[in-house]
Amino acid sequence: MNLIMFGPPGAGKGTQADLLQKKYGYAKLSTGDMLRAAVAAGTEVGLKAKAVMASGGLVSDDIMIALIRDRIAQPDCRGGFILDGFPRTLTQAEELDNMLAEEEIRLDRVIQLKVDDAKLVERITGRFSCKKCGAGYHDSFKPTRAAGVCDECGAGDFVRREDDKAETVTSRLDAYNRQTAPLLPYYASRGVLVAVDGMAEIDEVTRQIDRVVGEVEKFAKNG
Ligand code: AMP
Repeated sequence: MNLIMFGPPGAGKGTQADLLQKKYGYAKLSTGDMLRAAVAAGTEVGLKAKAVMASGGLVSDDIMIALIRDRIAQPDCRGGFILDGFPRTLTQAEELDNMLAEEEIRLDRVIQLKVDDAKLVERITGRFSCKKCGAGYHDSFKPTRAAGVCDECGAGDFVRREDDKAETVTSRLDAYNRQTAPLLPYYASRGVLVAVDGMAEIDEVTRQIDRVVGEVEKFAKNG
């Protein structure tokens, strides 16, 4: 199963991609995570991406396409993958199509998480994650069970993303609305787009996505 999790920042793409990865073993390809790792490691890509990410803009198509081209060629992607945060421009979407066609890989579904802008700001500005294991939390919607202790690994250090500040969130939403949302008709015209109510509780969103995945798998089995 090859999926794209599609939606604005804060829609829950990463959360749902993590759950799908755990449940089905698909490879999760998060371009945001790849870039943050590159920034932390101080690589050439990281140096180029750092300021753009901090401003809430989009990193250049050339860099992003090269990153995904390398990653999608890895053997673990053959068992299925979930793209989280890619493509974000029409050029990226077209290049992805070319890459997949070259490798004879099918894109099964683009799952659009629909969430109102006001909700997105609230979601993004409250999120934080465990510094050690990366588990994600939210001040109001998903606090740790014990204050200051990670539910997953018991560590006590947490981090907030630099670009989750209210000032930067507006630019990120603007980039989504101007450059990324126009991809929706592109995927709708290919018959792969499915919309899911991203305003629902996390478990309910997961159930809706599971239903989509289940239908595709049933169809694949029955030919
Ligand atoms: P994310 O974690 O998906 O919200 O990504 C964080 C930041 O990384 C974005 O605000 C962009 O600056 C950059 N980024 C991630 N994926 C892409 C992409 N496909 N194209 C351009 N920039 C990206």
